Amino acid sequence: MDALEIKKLRKTYRSQKGQKETVALRGIDLNIKQGDFYGLLGPNGAGKSTTIHCMSGLTIPTKGTIKVFGDDAVADPTVARQHVGLSPQEVMSLDWFLSVEETLDYHGGYYGMPKKLRKKRIEELLDAFSLQDKRKQNPRGLSGGMRRRLVIARALMHDPQMLVLDEPTAGVDVELRLELWHYMKKVNKEGKTILLTTHYIEEAEQLCNQIALINHGKIVETGTVAELKKKFKKKTLEDVYLSVVGREELQRTAEADEEGQETP
Ligand code: ADP
Ligand code: MG
Repeated sequence: MDALEIKKLRKTYRSQKGQKETVALRGIDLNIKQGDFYGLLGPNGAGKSTTIHCMSGLTIPTKGTIKVFGDDAVADPTVARQHVGLSPQEVMSLDWFLSVEETLDYHGGYYGMPKKLRKKRIEELLDAFSLQDKRKQNPRGLSGGMRRRLVIARALMHDPQMLVLDEPTAGVDVELRLELWHYMKKVNKEGKTILLTTHYIEEAEQLCNQIALINHGKIVETGTVAELKKKFKKKTLEDVYLSVVGREELQRTAEADEEGQETP
């Protein structure tokens, strides 16, 4: 059984008054094996977040099927959600009024974990993400790096089999990016399947054993880095990306990055 099996997924965002409807996904097929560190790589607006929102029950697909560890994520999002821990693109999803510890505890409660189990899991996660000495603090007082770590720890609280990270390193500095890579690798080594979205070619190359290139709501290529280079007769993944996705798209994403730089 695959960790994720998406077939012919389409998503059209309905038009609001005066606006045209947006076709975000035009028939996505995606298979992720258990234990994979899978990279969904593509420019801004390609459909990465929409794909993730469809599989984690945050938005309703227009068409297509999604199975998460064999369970139908469209018909029964609550069951599928137990398998998936989501670290959303916006770190602002943290509650400013809860301490680090409470953030994890509330999430566990929401997922139906009994108190004793929650306590144990909180200690494990505070250790794993080096947040022990911040446990009583409020996210407002945390650095950008610690907030990101907390969001990932929260996603793992109910011990899902799969961790989904939506652009966890977008707009962060090099040091923090390396730190987050370390934590992601650790989680994958411990046996969890990871789906990572990114528009950084180097990041996908460094971390992922499988890559799908997405553009304009379609998966345009899949394979390992080696397979993709071989197929396109290119020396680097960047050259593959440029020939598949195009230079304008890379440029557009770089410009959006500059606008969206996070302040620590
Ligand atoms: P990515 O995560 O790859 O940057 P998204 O999945 O966020 O891409 O967006 C795909 C397309 O869908 C874009 O054209 C975007 O503008 C559009 N879109 C995303 N969310 C919404 C929404 N809630 N309503 C309308 N259009 C949306
Ligand atoms: Mg996105």
